[in-house]
Amino acid sequence: MIAALMPVYARADVAFERGEGPYLFDADGRRYLDFCSGIAVTALGHAHPKLVAALTEQASRLWHTSNLFRIAGQERLAARLVEHSFADMVFFTNSGAEAWEAGLKLIRKHFAEQGRPERHRVITCSSGFHGRTLAAISATDQDKLTRGFAPLTEGFDVVAFGNLNELRAAITPATAAICVEPIQGEGGIRRADIQYLQGLRAVCDEFGLMLFFDEIQCGMGRTGKLFAHQWAGVTPDVMCLAKGLGGGFPIGAVLATERAAEGMTAGSHGSTFGGNPLAMAVADAVLDVLLEPGFLDEVARIGDRLGRGLAELVARHPTVYQEVRGAGLMLGLKCVPPNADVIARLRAQGLITAPASDNVVRLLPPLIITDDEVAEALDALDRVGAGWTEAQLQ
Ligand SMILES: *Cc1c(COP(=O)(O)O)cnc(C)c1O
Repeated sequence: MIAALMPVYARADVAFERGEGPYLFDADGRRYLDFCSGIAVTALGHAHPKLVAALTEQASRLWHTSNLFRIAGQERLAARLVEHSFADMVFFTNSGAEAWEAGLKLIRKHFAEQGRPERHRVITCSSGFHGRTLAAISATDQDKLTRGFAPLTEGFDVVAFGNLNELRAAITPATAAICVEPIQGEGGIRRADIQYLQGLRAVCDEFGLMLFFDEIQCGMGRTGKLFAHQWAGVTPDVMCLAKGLGGGFPIGAVLATERAAEGMTAGSHGSTFGGNPLAMAVADAVLDVLLEPGFLDEVARIGDRLGRGLAELVARHPTVYQEVRGAGLMLGLKCVPPNADVIARLRAQGLITAPASDNVVRLLPPLIITDDEVAEALDALDRVGAGWTEAQLQ
């Protein structure tokens, strides 16, 4: 059965059958605590009653019409995203990479519209990740993403993440934008510091560049604010979202200021499925929950609690866990033994986590977790930390 699938993933030998809140159940009925959330996607856990109701209600009325017609759910969700962000306009996609690429097209179109088509290059960061389309892999310096896929898309200059001097030196008359993840996810849960994000805004203002934040992983409440860049008190010109936005239903979105989006006129871009009524209904319900008074404050509180617990584990098991990274409920543990081994042992202890580059184990629990579940996860991590004998670490 597996042989009929292209083997592009090294899959763990477990298949889940059912989910309930922060828990997953496999075919044998074994229960796992899900601190992966489908890689920051099932932000409200599994089978959240409000999302199930929104999806089934919409499913019994209307699935798809086409962007040739008005779609009430799109108009409503776009207006709400605009109300709660820097943006004036939204375009909906089906995935993160598509949303990121729509952002890239929007930036190029903006400068073309201004009669400056030569300004089309985008500065990106080392260990960044923006998806798997040809343009998105071209924006990285990671050989593992690009090997064998040449020729790549032209127009990217990669600089060290967090280094403003190197970034300034890379700006040329052809530079259009700077694209950064406020917290790098796949790259190893690396958090940009606040001064760096503020510096990016200042550099963009100084040189007339667009600031493009990829919040596909770090956005939608994961850090305890709706968007991670809000901690720095700066706003981008363009931002892409996906993952948590749909709570498990495929969706992406690119948000932009009116000025940035000036070239996106009728016929310039499109999508058959993007902004489908089912996706809109679920994302609208996700936003309802995230915006409930106190919800994001609780994410920040419990994230802080989990982060402090992880720091204690680093102190207790320094030969296994080396460092805690991230913010809110987007946390990473840099490991000493291979992260894949740590993840397998955690799974055997009933805790599901995800890998990231730089030998990091990612902890991306649903935003609805409670203190009890944090304690349960820390116990599993503690048991795995304690189970590594000196001999095994040689
Ligand atoms: C996951 C991710 C993407 C790609 O999203 P897909 O839905 O897999 O296309 C892009 N950027 C970041 C920061 C991501 O975490």
